[in-house]
Amino acid sequence: MVSATIDLLKKELPVEQTSLLLSQDIKTGLVLVDLVNGFCTVGAGNLAPVQHDKQISCMVQESVRLARLFCEKKWPVFAFLDTHHPDIPEPPYPPHCIAGTDEARLVPDLQWLENEANATLRRKDCIDGFLGSVDKDGSNLFVDWVNKNQIKAILVVGICTDICVLDFVCSALSARNRRMLTPLEDVIVYSGACATFDLPVHVAQDIDGALAHPQDLMHHIGLYMAKGRGARIVSEVSFAAK
Ligand SMILES: [Zn+2]
Repeated sequence: MVSATIDLLKKELPVEQTSLLLSQDIKTGLVLVDLVNGFCTVGAGNLAPVQHDKQISCMVQESVRLARLFCEKKWPVFAFLDTHHPDIPEPPYPPHCIAGTDEARLVPDLQWLENEANATLRRKDCIDGFLGSVDKDGSNLFVDWVNKNQIKAILVVGICTDICVLDFVCSALSARNRRMLTPLEDVIVYSGACATFDLPVHVAQDIDGALAHPQDLMHHIGLYMAKGRGARIVSEVSFAAK
């Protein structure tokens, strides 16, 4: 899609973004959505970028930076990892992030998180991490994490802005509004640490059944939808000096 058209759409669907200053006063938890090789590492699988992707690599870099700072401060971190059983497909997507493969592992720059006492890792076999947090006994690991840590705000980053990030954000907002997450006040999406994949219309039209997905536009629409549901969108995140 030509950038003039995207600019026009962005003008018709404006998303106001603010900056976020994190401090000890508001207990904030970081939620990392699907920073796995299968979505982030070039050539890693059916849903991985086929070549270097600036939006995705910026998202990884910025998410890793935040994860390190949160862990240094011992602030809570929750990471979703898309992971599927080989015999259970996830339509409309081709097979991806099969359990036990490298695709379902955190990206190399984030693998230290596996041994981080501060982090809660959750494998999920569906788009919406909130639903993916439900266990057989009906408990919800994400709900428990918010309530146990008395989290007042969550800062959400990861991939894809308009798919797994958006669905999780929408569910978290509904759960908050239903008082399932009593301490939680704010759901914040950091645009610079989110990304989505690129499937331009001229490529999609040659793939049977594929839906065009222009990256810049869909990233923007993801943010727009999240904001419309009640999330706060920020374009800058900094930490208050002690
Ligand atoms: Zn999946």
